[in-house]
Amino acid sequence: MKFKMRFAPSPTGPLHLGHAYSALLAHSAARASAGQFYLRMDDIDQSRARAEWALQIQDDLRWLGVTWDGPIWSQHARSAHYILALERLWAKGLLYSCTCTRADIKAAANAPQEGAPLIGPDGVIYPGSCRCDPEGVMPKHAALRLNMKKSLQLFDIKHISFSESNQNYTKTALEMIAQIGDVVLSRKDMAASYHLSIVCDDADQGITHVIRGEDLREATFIHILLQRLLGYPTPKYRHHPLIRDENGKRLAKRDDARAIAAYRIEGRTPLDIRQMIGL
Ligand code: GLU
Ligand code: ZN
Repeated sequence: MKFKMRFAPSPTGPLHLGHAYSALLAHSAARASAGQFYLRMDDIDQSRARAEWALQIQDDLRWLGVTWDGPIWSQHARSAHYILALERLWAKGLLYSCTCTRADIKAAANAPQEGAPLIGPDGVIYPGSCRCDPEGVMPKHAALRLNMKKSLQLFDIKHISFSESNQNYTKTALEMIAQIGDVVLSRKDMAASYHLSIVCDDADQGITHVIRGEDLREATFIHILLQRLLGYPTPKYRHHPLIRDENGKRLAKRDDARAIAAYRIEGRTPLDIRQMIGL
């Protein structure tokens, strides 16, 4: 089988060792199967994405020997696709608009009768203050949340599961509700959240295999659920261990000393980088 794989960095900073690891693993898996490898810019958050970072990332990837097929997709140009997906969910009554601020959510989740607030892959589990059965047209420039319970019921989903490296990962419907809850799929100033945009992009590009860091394993439950709700196929997921520093501490995304660009200035070679990340 020819794999269709992708690397989808957010151009909000330099490419660092952890990103390079994901990109090199996915690139070599795609090439080993004589398949496709795509580069996409996860630049949906225009308040943080910068064109300069996108260019620097491409330059660093080329330097590392990563080549990609076809044009680079930019999420910024794909809002219309995300809105169509949202409208399909809205038409099924699975979305509602939420006007809560972060502080509101924290306060509601911290209410004494609630116990300690639970944190899921999308932040504090939403306490449901705005949950309702909306009618009429989908509002524009509003935060839209997925009604988790209703979605699972409508599609008669009893659990979400996936397996990788002989290990099975499962969440029952009750666990999806309690540990993930009503995730945000669209924001006031962003057509789509990370979860919705990445699921649409993977489906539209026909991605068959995803390799990414294990910090995203919990988010995979959300992605598979969205694929079921939207009728998209589910790629095969593999989550690699995160790159750690000499003390075993996970590299911070913002640790610019580990930026590939910084190593290049120091005179390191692409081979040095591969060795540093154990490839
Ligand atoms: N832009 C995301 C990141 O850098 C991509 C995650 C993914 O591959 O799904 O973490
Ligand atoms: Zn709300």
